[in-house]
Amino acid sequence: MQNYQNDGVILVIDDDQNNIRVIIDILKPAGLTIISARNGQMGIKRALFALPDLILLDIMMPQMDGFETCHLLKANPTTQAIPILFITALNDEENKVKGFEVGGVDYITKPFSAREMVARVKTHLNLKRKQDLLERLVAIDGLTEIPNRRQFDTVLEKEWKRAQQTQKPLALIMIDIDYFKQFNDGYGHPAGDECLRKVAQTLAKSVQRCSDFVGRYGGEEFVAILPETSTDLALKVAKRMQDNLADLRLHHVFSPIGDYVTLSCGVAALTPIPETYPQDLIKLADRALYQAKANGRNQIVISNPFNWP
Ligand SMILES: [Mg+2]
Repeated sequence: MQNYQNDGVILVIDDDQNNIRVIIDILKPAGLTIISARNGQMGIKRALFALPDLILLDIMMPQMDGFETCHLLKANPTTQAIPILFITALNDEENKVKGFEVGGVDYITKPFSAREMVARVKTHLNLKRKQDLLERLVAIDGLTEIPNRRQFDTVLEKEWKRAQQTQKPLALIMIDIDYFKQFNDGYGHPAGDECLRKVAQTLAKSVQRCSDFVGRYGGEEFVAILPETSTDLALKVAKRMQDNLADLRLHHVFSPIGDYVTLSCGVAALTPIPETYPQDLIKLADRALYQAKANGRNQIVISNPFNWP
């Protein structure tokens, strides 16, 4: 019986074409897709391009050996999470140990045992999938299926550092569903949850660049991080969010300001200079959002950092 759950892409990096052929003959019938490279440099390029699920890496190669190749793969954020199994000779204890030290998760030995190779590869594919799932669960809000507050903190920290280097403005939009408590009380919590999901998906669809981030900040509050974005551009994004939600026409008979669900938004942008922190950007956007609500909701307020603190 074929186990489709184990299907995956394996990159074999080995200078010996015969080894590659043998590995293909063993792994292909197990439902795995094999791609290959004949040296470390090509292997890294293929790994970056194809993002395989697992790498089988020969240690003994001319020019760049397996250890150095592994080191470079582990140093690159794009490839560092890909499990690497070293290919070693059967009794080569020293290399097996060193393989673990440089970040390998396991090894397979030459001459190859087909059943052992399939078992080790499939075990590590399963472990990697569980790891990926855990990481996803930790970063995603269970209800709305967009990134959660924890992930927001991580991304904001990262984008702030990047903005420090580029000296380009980093924009934040804080978004609040107007009269959501009344919505929940009036329609009930299941309908409230559905409303949160629809708003979240609409906000996520309203940003266009892959570097833009939309997450759930907490309760009925959402947040967008827009790198290299001025307040003017961020304002346009906030407007698009409001318009896209208005198009959905989510009924809200308990809202004192209209017939449909609406959003209040606070917009702020900062170019990081010494003595400023990501928390300052949050405070600015939060204060603008507070102002939008105080002004009567269903509107966007842009923060003016020159009036602050
Ligand atoms: Mg070799």
